[in-house]
Amino acid sequence: SSGSDDNDVVVIGGGPGGYVAAIKAAQLGLKTTCIEKRGTLGGTCLNVGCIPSKALLHSSHMYHEATHAFANHGVKFSSVEVDLPAMMAQKDKAVANLTRGIEGLFKKNKVNYVKGYGKFISPSEVSVDTPDGATTIVKGKNIIVATGSDVKSLPGITIDEKRIVSSTGALALSEIPKKLVVIGAGYIGLEMGSVWGRIGSEITVVEFAPDIVPTMDGEVRKQFQRSLEKQGMKFMLKTKVVGVDTSENGVKLTLEPAAGGDQTTLEADVVLVSAGRTPFTAGLGLDKIGVETDKIGRILVNERFSTNVPGVFAIGDVIPGPMLAHKAEEDGVACVEFIAGKVGHVDYDKVPGVVYTHPEVASVGKTEEQVKALGVDYRVGKFPFMANSRAKAIDDAEGLVKILAEKETDKILGVHIMAPNAGELIHEAAIALQYDASSEDIARVCHAHPTMSEALKEAAMATYDKPIHI
Ligand code: FAD
Repeated sequence: SSGSDDNDVVVIGGGPGGYVAAIKAAQLGLKTTCIEKRGTLGGTCLNVGCIPSKALLHSSHMYHEATHAFANHGVKFSSVEVDLPAMMAQKDKAVANLTRGIEGLFKKNKVNYVKGYGKFISPSEVSVDTPDGATTIVKGKNIIVATGSDVKSLPGITIDEKRIVSSTGALALSEIPKKLVVIGAGYIGLEMGSVWGRIGSEITVVEFAPDIVPTMDGEVRKQFQRSLEKQGMKFMLKTKVVGVDTSENGVKLTLEPAAGGDQTTLEADVVLVSAGRTPFTAGLGLDKIGVETDKIGRILVNERFSTNVPGVFAIGDVIPGPMLAHKAEEDGVACVEFIAGKVGHVDYDKVPGVVYTHPEVASVGKTEEQVKALGVDYRVGKFPFMANSRAKAIDDAEGLVKILAEKETDKILGVHIMAPNAGELIHEAAIALQYDASSEDIARVCHAHPTMSEALKEAAMATYDKPIHI
């Protein structure tokens, strides 16, 4: 194999950070090898994260629409049912096609792909245990660690992926649980809770913190929580799980108020533990070559993605920063640009975040709480989708656009959108933020009618002046 040839760049991990870095490196003319242990490319995101979750969110949404919305639109069925194996098969097909697609991109860009578990033996050599039982040494002038993250369990809770599942198990349940308890009200828990809730599970979300999705703008979060509650999701906030009892028939959780107090119990058929993710560096041999990590195991890098060991870089979920696929990709491109002698840049203040429930919640820039904390004088412009003609026309008008702009200059500081397609709408705001636009800049751009995007224009008008339609 070409594994023993000298590479300019060796990437360990084939997730959105690693595979994008590998393709970009090859495009920049660098001889590149990517090592991945999973057997397929695409990492957490493609195999057990972003993509399968969005497949199931879409399928379950279609069922929910069929049972809750179609009749209002004059579309009637005699019966509707969920075929869970077929739903899972469509998800699996999407994943398989996309992972194979990345293999195709590797071939097209001449990235050498080595399957197996990579371990450092020196800062420029990685030994790989390949699936056929052999060991091959891959050498590189520059090595990028893109080993990503793994599910974090909670003390006293053992994930068996049957009764007590991580997001990975929750993406592949063989039956619809009657009662699903979700531990952790972050976006992964709410997305997976939505999937199963829409097709019949009773969902209770237990969260230690006083709020769901702690990074969200408080006002938007309130509306979001109300919306999820209307859909039947129950929340037990400021509550901790102190015991878990698994039996043949289900799980019994013992709960306690976060601040201490009387215990209660809660029964579930399945418990989803979605209490965060942890950087994955097991068996990588970081200590052997002296790469520094922080208290929670994240690899420390400088603004060029270089670790303290010359020639060794790190990107994506395994370094500090938002644990998101698009952030990992940005890291990957910028890191490789530095290696190639160019300049790379990632603006971590402008990474959009999206919760893909229905409605979706998307944001970019600062929340109102963050703006307040900065002590900046600001204005808020809001526009509800109830006053947006397209949202009314399609009878899906829950949500709002909220823009925060600096009072003196009208410069946009943050944009928060709750809408069915907020994850798509947010990029207009991301561009505005990137170009230091004022909210008047957005308001004066002609927006097509009738579109949901008009709500962003109207919220921009409301920030420095008055909106038209409310
Ligand atoms: P990973 O994707 O984790 O990839 C790392 C890869 O490295 C893995 O394939 C692993 O097998 C491999 N590897 C590790 N160690 C070695 C080794 N020693 N040798 C060889 N290979 C190794 N993010 C979003 O932006 N949008 C979403 O909608 C979204 N939804 C999500 C839903 C779920 C259920 C989950 C769990 C995550 C979701 N995420 C989402 C987060 C996203 O998946 C991660 O941020 C992203 O995958 C990080 O990319 P990465 O390349 O850093 O690491």
